[in-house]
Amino acid sequence: MKFYTVDAHCDTVHLFAQEHYNFWQENTCGQIDYPRLKQGGVNLQFFALFVEPEYKPFLALSRALQLMEHFFCTLEKNKANTIFIKTKKELQEAVQNPHKLAVIMALEGGEPLESSKEILHIFYRLGLRSVGLTWNQRNQLADGVGVGKGASGLTKMGKEIVKHLNRLGIVVDGAHLAKRGFYDLLETATKPVLVSHANAAALCPHPRNLDKEQLLALKAHKGVVGLTFYPDFIAEKEATLEKLLDHFCYIADLAGVEILGLGSDFDGIEKVLPELSNVSHLPALTAGLRRRGFSEKEIAAIMGENMLKLLSSNLLEEEENDSCRFTSSYTSK
Ligand SMILES: [Zn+2]
Repeated sequence: MKFYTVDAHCDTVHLFAQEHYNFWQENTCGQIDYPRLKQGGVNLQFFALFVEPEYKPFLALSRALQLMEHFFCTLEKNKANTIFIKTKKELQEAVQNPHKLAVIMALEGGEPLESSKEILHIFYRLGLRSVGLTWNQRNQLADGVGVGKGASGLTKMGKEIVKHLNRLGIVVDGAHLAKRGFYDLLETATKPVLVSHANAAALCPHPRNLDKEQLLALKAHKGVVGLTFYPDFIAEKEATLEKLLDHFCYIADLAGVEILGLGSDFDGIEKVLPELSNVSHLPALTAGLRRRGFSEKEIAAIMGENMLKLLSSNLLEEEENDSCRFTSSYTSK
């Protein structure tokens, strides 16, 4: 059975920015490129614009735009084989044309959006459809997990931005948020929330992973978590594919299959699982899920359908061309 497969997180845009990298050919570097996405059976890929800490805060906006330019240049080289998803209509078109690579442009860390609502809206016009509020640090929207004990929740501005993102049909991503911010996000969001790349803290107690209460709260809010292939989030020692499969089984038993998805974090991780070292090995994960007793229907849900549902309940039917009516400063800084 062929599944429509969605990966909710990768950092491959950094490779797009490298001079000798060609996304459309198989590369010896990196973990994702077009031929290997095809081999792995990925139909829809989220591409994150990740602004490196050294650019924050003052150069965050210009760095995000720089990365975006590389993203656009890459896609333009093969328009016939890609669908850039900005609306529910385009999502439906993508599902009907699974041979085309569907792409969502995402932002990892909200710093570029901090200055004004106009900036948020221009990102919307450029096609941004998923926003992770923080990376590991604190920004004006919220605290990331790296802040540690005593981390705060969403700021007033953070809450305001979440409401705007929801109104514009941009998915809000709670990966990297500190716990209080995670709960604030669920309370503030009017649409289902994504956690694009994290695993279960019960099996691997890393602060980036979600604990039992968070997973149950995510389920109650109809959110989806993309399980990630980063060894440090899978096991404290000797991460393997089997141990990653344990996370799928644990979360399915606890909160149900409907909250599960994929968020590989490929090209954002320096270590990989031996059995899942790049995206072309994804069929090993499907085979593993089958071995662990998931039905074909459940595997289809995990591999992509749950993420498609989340996207469909977030995206607008058509583009919002009247975003100027929201234009004004944030009420709080
Ligand atoms: Zn990340």
